[in-house]
Amino acid sequence: MQKGVAGFLYDETDMPSTSSGMRPDLIFNPLSLITRMTTGVIFEGMLAKLAAHTGTTPEATMFKKLDTDNIANTLESYGFKRNGTERLYNGMTGLYMDAEIFIAPIMYQTLQKYVIDTVYANSISPTDALTKQPIHGRSSLGGLKIGSMETACMSVSSINFLQEKTHQHSDGIEAYICERCQSRAVIVNQEMNLYKCNACGDLASLVKYTTSHSSQLFLNELQAMSVGTKIHLRKGVFEVESDE
Ligand SMILES: [Zn+2]
Repeated sequence: MQKGVAGFLYDETDMPSTSSGMRPDLIFNPLSLITRMTTGVIFEGMLAKLAAHTGTTPEATMFKKLDTDNIANTLESYGFKRNGTERLYNGMTGLYMDAEIFIAPIMYQTLQKYVIDTVYANSISPTDALTKQPIHGRSSLGGLKIGSMETACMSVSSINFLQEKTHQHSDGIEAYICERCQSRAVIVNQEMNLYKCNACGDLASLVKYTTSHSSQLFLNELQAMSVGTKIHLRKGVFEVESDE
């Protein structure tokens, strides 16, 4: 089987026609048969052409050997070309098209796939309860995915865009740690101007840093498994790479 999208809609009068005035419903690119390895479509068309002409219902059980030479011979005996090609005339100019064009009846169905069902845009979306990242899916009003190709494009032009998408527009947060004991177990209450590390007391050195909620979740999961973590913070530095 094949699938495809309509590239252009012609008026029926503009479609090419056979000498008897028969016009095809659709024209498709023969290269599509090679890439998808669906040469059976041609044989199906040949047999259907013969069946339509003789008014018979041939057996078309799949995986059974099909005698294509016999079909070709029978087609020839009825005055058709062996391979099912015909002479077509351009519907717009009426001129003979100097090419062997395969034309045959074939079974086809309409794929119910429309832009209106797929089109989607979003500015804010609900977030996942556990990770606090935007949920996905059009049906649940989820966020739009930044894929690897978008990331590759933006990494050369707009790092700020990536930072915005992966932090502000996702699960980015600001958190505090005590630099002295590298622990997350600190007390911070901005309203009461309270910044404390119970382990270090007066020697505490609290710092604010940007991280993500999913990163904090991972640390919480480690903690739940009795695995301790220490966070070593380093100031952001810009280092020029030397050629040597
Ligand atoms: Zn501390």
